[in-house]
Amino acid sequence: MPGPEGDISSPRALSLPDALKKLNWEDEFDADGISITEMFKAHNTSLTYNDFNIFPGFIDFAVHAVDLTTHLTKKITIRAPLISSPMDTVTEHEMAITMACHLQLHGGIGIIHANFPTPADQANEVSKVKRYKQGFIISPQCIKSDDSVLDLFEIKQKFGFTGTPVTDTGKVGGKLLGLVTSRDIDFIKESRYKTTKISEVMVPRDRLITGGEELELPDAYNILEKEKKGKLPIVNANDELVALIARTDLKKSRDFPQSSYDKKGQLMVGAAINTRENSKKTVELLVEAGVDVLIIDSSNGASAYQVKLLKWIKETYSQVEVIAGNVVTMKQAKLLIDSGADALRIGMGSGSICITQEVMAVGRAQGSAVFQVARYARSRGVPVIADGGIRDVGYITKAISLGASTVMMGGLLAGTNEAPGEYFWGPNGLRLKKYRGMGSIDAMEAHSTSQDRYFTSDDAIKVAQGVTATMRDRGTCHKFLPYLIRGIQHGFQDIGVRSLNELHSKVYDGTIKFELRSQNAQLEGGVHSLHSYEKPMY
Ligand code: GDP
Ligand code: 5GP
Repeated sequence: MPGPEGDISSPRALSLPDALKKLNWEDEFDADGISITEMFKAHNTSLTYNDFNIFPGFIDFAVHAVDLTTHLTKKITIRAPLISSPMDTVTEHEMAITMACHLQLHGGIGIIHANFPTPADQANEVSKVKRYKQGFIISPQCIKSDDSVLDLFEIKQKFGFTGTPVTDTGKVGGKLLGLVTSRDIDFIKESRYKTTKISEVMVPRDRLITGGEELELPDAYNILEKEKKGKLPIVNANDELVALIARTDLKKSRDFPQSSYDKKGQLMVGAAINTRENSKKTVELLVEAGVDVLIIDSSNGASAYQVKLLKWIKETYSQVEVIAGNVVTMKQAKLLIDSGADALRIGMGSGSICITQEVMAVGRAQGSAVFQVARYARSRGVPVIADGGIRDVGYITKAISLGASTVMMGGLLAGTNEAPGEYFWGPNGLRLKKYRGMGSIDAMEAHSTSQDRYFTSDDAIKVAQGVTATMRDRGTCHKFLPYLIRGIQHGFQDIGVRSLNELHSKVYDGTIKFELRSQNAQLEGGVHSLHSYEKPMY
């Protein structure tokens, strides 16, 4: 006798409807989800990251076994697929150094923007990255010998450190005259702060222990340990200050990371240039400074100017890799690959600060652009960068799943400590940083190079293609980048792949399946149905 409803002591077999009996399950498995080609073909409309999900695969490896090494260009590989955008509120030397070398994992790369007063200023940023040695403070806060003790206290208050080199210019690069630390000023009465000169309290040059430029970090630390000193100024042959080494960093150095180094052991760095004739001089300065890769920065890469400049660079400086763009169609990609591009940058109108599609009526949804350009470029052996529209870590994994080898981020990095600019307090007590499109009126008016990207420099009438915005404080990249990298590794683990190569092979052969998301699916996939929530991410 069948048991009553809900009686688990006498189970009934699940009835098998006839329709299910007839099915061939292997075929059904195949039809569960669609391949990437089907996804883009079936849908006669543009798609972007939020429009689809990737199906989970089988996990039989640990998350840190996922290797994110990837091609930046044909010749350059980097350890993480992350690039910071050449924007004046995103990448100068500090961001570039952090992108290439961060504390726990391996590096990506930063591209120095081109919106400086002169090309020499941009080249100087490149050279700061190339000269960077881990543990060496390359722009230490300095002071002049006729400044007062009060000035030193102000430095301490503003920056938090007291070990301050004294130079004739008050800046790094000036002749080293001495060093002043908190111990030298501890016993000075407050009433004398203003009248006591640094020269009266500093340890003068002839009593200072210093190191030469060629000194390696372990030797520098040995000196600090042996001499029981807190700071070791590093000077060049002319006795000018080039860096400072701090004893407090010694402990941190014990777990030193491997980073994105070039063959000479220097960090890798890129720089953006525009398509104008005067860029040739800029290229010369950047190459002299040791730039590894140039990005020709243009919103529509398919221009006679870009083709001409690209060919010229490849003929003149064959050792420098050149990333061309931006492109969103296969035809544009072919033009630039035929002209010598070593990688392509994809995106038109997908950036967070970007209004190109609204104003110019031209562009393409980023998912479609990445998929179409990446598969053509892959057939030519050229890696591609998915540039813009990366809102969080999942978007990076999706961009790579569509064929990108790296992603470029602007907004995601703009609120970090390492982005240029100061924080300020906004309404509601939020700590903010400025973030602006390079085609915003604000950026275009700052320097002419930004106008060149958007072809308006000869034109009295400006048409903005970007906005000026603010971003919330994201803290330091030293925490944020490891979060991004570990997040991508988790995504790959869920998909069941251990590397970008494996992901790309399995996407293109249809093993990895996708599914489009309805609007309701998108709502369901986000946080929902809560009274309130908090979202700390890392
Ligand atoms: P301490 O008082 O001996 O701990 O030394 P400081 O107050 O001078 O702070 C040293 C710490 O600040 C080290 O971790 C340095 O790497 C870091 N730091 C970063 N930039 C600078 C700088 O411009 N000058 C100095 N002195 N330290 C810096
Ligand atoms: P995000 O990461 O903030 O979504 O996008 C950054 C990207 O937007 C940049 O790498 C660059 O390609 C693009 N971009 C930067 N400034 C502008 C601008 O003013 N207008 C347009 N159309 N794109 C911009």
